[in-house]
Amino acid sequence: MPRAPVALVTGAASGIGRAVAGRMVGDGYEVLAVDLHPDPDGPGAPCEADLTDAGANAAAVSTALERFGGLDVIVAGAGIQHVAPIQEFPVERWETILALMLTSPFLLARHGWEALAESGSGRYIAIASAHGLVASPYKSAYVSAKHGLLGLVKTLALEGAERGIAATAVCPGYVRTPLVEAQIPDQARAHGISEERALEEVILAPHAVKELIEPSEVADVVAFLAGPGGRSFTGVPVTMDMGWTAR
Ligand code: NAD
Repeated sequence: MPRAPVALVTGAASGIGRAVAGRMVGDGYEVLAVDLHPDPDGPGAPCEADLTDAGANAAAVSTALERFGGLDVIVAGAGIQHVAPIQEFPVERWETILALMLTSPFLLARHGWEALAESGSGRYIAIASAHGLVASPYKSAYVSAKHGLLGLVKTLALEGAERGIAATAVCPGYVRTPLVEAQIPDQARAHGISEERALEEVILAPHAVKELIEPSEVADVVAFLAGPGGRSFTGVPVTMDMGWTAR
């Protein structure tokens, strides 16, 4: 009997990664749910890894291969944010953000490449951001990592073309996750306005549509890209940003 398709999802304990892991389990994938703080009750097989550590990325790929016998989809989703003006930006936060959000996606591709090629329809899907296409002030590390991630995805698309691997960057606007929700009370306090106004006027300012995207909507896009219909979406950003980058 052919084995079930296998997906390795990072950042799988929370927010977008959790929604992606849940959707892929529902679609019949074996999912290795990799996170710094894995949730034993969350979707997929929990795997603890600090992805800022190079060896942990190789180990996560090995775990997927040993446990499930192959690897068909990598979803690189783990991410963090730090907001500070450039002259105050802590150097160690820059290094952590680049390690987690650019070097880890590189290492996962590096170590999982042969398995994706053996899959015959390998998919590499990076959860990038509208911040992979445009910048905002005070987010130098995040914006740089996401722009770099788009470069990685384009390169992987070219290298993967002859081996049946498609590589795609999903670029959402603001999504309703702990990473964003934590910013609402802070912005309300900082601007002396209600949380409703902080969300609409401060956080959602770049959106044409003043609403958050739901994690399940990002998971829908990832599920499509991982399936047969995603084949031609290689080397591109798939932008779902509520009109942000239309300006
Ligand atoms: P989240 O905070 O809900 O989840 C991020 C997960 O990453 C957490 O479970 C956390 O434990 C894990 N993580 C953090 N550091 C780690 C480490 N060193 N090793 C392994 N795992 C680690 O965040 P989210 O909003 O779901 O973001 C997921 C991805 O989506 C990120 O790459 C983020 O940049 C991107 N994104 C988010 C939004 C948004 O508005 N929320 C928009 C565009 C893109």
